[in-house]
Amino acid sequence: MTGTDRVDGGPWLPWMPGPVGTPAVTQDEMRRHNLGVLLRLLHVRGATSRSDLTAVSGLNRSTVKALTTELADAGLVLEAAPVGRGGAGRPSILVEPRSEQVWALAVDIGVEHVAAARIGLGGRVLDRRETRQPRGRGDVPQVLRRVQGLVEPLLAAAGRDPVGIGVAVPGMVGGPSGLVRLAPNLSWVDVPLGRLLAAELGTSLPVAVGNEGDLGVMAEHLRGVAADAADVIYLAGEVGLGGGIIIGGRPLTGAGGYAGEIGHMSVNPATGRMCPCGRRGCWETEVGADAVLLATGAPAGSAPAEVLAAQAAGGRAGRAAVRRVGRWLGVGVANLVNVFNPEVVIFGGLTRRMFPVLEQYVRAELASALPAPRDQVRLALPGLDGDSSLIGAAELAFAPLLGDPLGARV
Ligand SMILES: [Zn+2]
Repeated sequence: MTGTDRVDGGPWLPWMPGPVGTPAVTQDEMRRHNLGVLLRLLHVRGATSRSDLTAVSGLNRSTVKALTTELADAGLVLEAAPVGRGGAGRPSILVEPRSEQVWALAVDIGVEHVAAARIGLGGRVLDRRETRQPRGRGDVPQVLRRVQGLVEPLLAAAGRDPVGIGVAVPGMVGGPSGLVRLAPNLSWVDVPLGRLLAAELGTSLPVAVGNEGDLGVMAEHLRGVAADAADVIYLAGEVGLGGGIIIGGRPLTGAGGYAGEIGHMSVNPATGRMCPCGRRGCWETEVGADAVLLATGAPAGSAPAEVLAAQAAGGRAGRAAVRRVGRWLGVGVANLVNVFNPEVVIFGGLTRRMFPVLEQYVRAELASALPAPRDQVRLALPGLDGDSSLIGAAELAFAPLLGDPLGARV
């Protein structure tokens, strides 16, 4: 194994520890780095025998034993009774992440809902709470209080603190204080969400904030429907349409971290509607929640996917409206397929429930994409159901621990 080889334990992302063998300045740094590699393998794979850890990490057997013992002493993993046969014919100890004890607090702030969960090391959802919020009432103090209302019982039930806090938001995020630069559907501009939420929760723990699409694609790539894919597009959003993109196994961030705002691709500038971002005819104005309700004549507050399903089973006008929304969804997907040549497009967020109703129209439109990338792409629903962004938020919170397990000792 060379210094540039990837450890075969799942996709590698920049916020994770690098491959075994990456040059380190001191022996201690190398040890800490390798502790991170092993903990990350356990986080992604779940319970794994020491002999399998040895095989996939490329570290030698005695090093793995010493390091897993250190992780166990730090309370991060449990070394269970020997199972099966190890490489040398001896039983191999099973090492598993201590999910109940080592957990992250994940928060998903949407336009019409807020969710919070305890997510254990290994990606297990231990406890989850959610509340609805009326659209247009996304003013920051109220949202913070809603989050606090969800988090309090989670913390009380846990009995111990999380290793970190991660938050998913439907907006563009930049800067170390978790600054939400723009969240059009919440009417947020330059909101230092990380700092404000830490103050609201009265915690000194770091609060990491990420875009819901970026976090959704990260989670699906790590442990969802795209775990075997290197080029992935994830559609996010609850009212509007967001996205997260992974190319060549790496998140596509752009210069400032704002890449992936696929909902603001202009697709219908001549006759489309105004978008909350200020432009006319953005993709989300044709396929977002409001577009569905407008196309079908459904009253405000209706659930878009249910409206579409009812219209699809109804009369000619209803079916025409469904076809229109489905075609617009397909137009955008075909553009993305032409530009990015993804292996998989995941219909998350708002589109998760809409896609099954619209699939035939999306596929009909996709037929107009360039033949080579069109033939390679598969269309999929999320493997993590509606929790991709929430689980991705937990990954943000786990990142410091996985980078330096004993430096962030719990
Ligand atoms: Zn827009």
